[in-house]
Amino acid sequence: MSKRPSKPIHILQLYPRDMNIYGDTGNLLVLQRRLERYGYEPVVHSYNPGDAFPDDIDIILGGGGQDSGQNKIQDDLIAISPRLHDLADGDTPMLVICGLYQLFGHFFETHDGTRIKGIDLLDVTTYGRSERLIGNIHTHSRLFGDIVGYENHSGQTFLGTSATPLAEVILGAGNNVEDTHEGAMYRHVIGSYLHGSLLPKNPAIADYLIHHAVKKKYGEEIEKQLNDSLADQARAVAIKRPR
Ligand code: GLN
Repeated sequence: MSKRPSKPIHILQLYPRDMNIYGDTGNLLVLQRRLERYGYEPVVHSYNPGDAFPDDIDIILGGGGQDSGQNKIQDDLIAISPRLHDLADGDTPMLVICGLYQLFGHFFETHDGTRIKGIDLLDVTTYGRSERLIGNIHTHSRLFGDIVGYENHSGQTFLGTSATPLAEVILGAGNNVEDTHEGAMYRHVIGSYLHGSLLPKNPAIADYLIHHAVKKKYGEEIEKQLNDSLADQARAVAIKRPR
């Protein structure tokens, strides 16, 4: 019997050593499993400072981190910035959470005044404040419906005119305490403050990343409708949780 030809989808995990907190690895696991169920072969590349940047990338994932972790990776991130811009402008889907969301913007000025440079991919700017924004968060997005997760950040992020908010906050803080926006989008790049992990409870976002990756690489639509009743139940419980 001949084996079905495998259709690889390459996922690049950015800085898993320094930027990966509050379960962000769960986002990778969800993409791997869903890709398999849709009939694709997930191939994971872990990229840490100094590594060779792979040639073939279909989805990029990045997590959150302490200010010290952000400091550690900033020079390397600036070095690979042209590659990330090329991929983003070529409509490669990306999901970056919290610490890397901040550094996909212009800069993060920490609460002690240290400025950590970003790569200007998202039109957002972040200022650290003494108050940390911590707790469960519930938002609503036009594209994805309800989105739930957990946030813990000192940085407050403000959108410039060319960034679109990912969602509007229903419970919690999101980007900052002054407006109601959460996250930002540019082309198929999503930045968000939501850990938790995000994708297990919000599979619509996982499918958005997979849909765009598969369409770009193979010109195909994802076919099978997965049963997400467990994720739906988890989301329903998470929405009822107090802050
Ligand atoms: N260090 C950043 C902040 O405190 C990001 C935190 C995070 O990724 N959870 O704002």
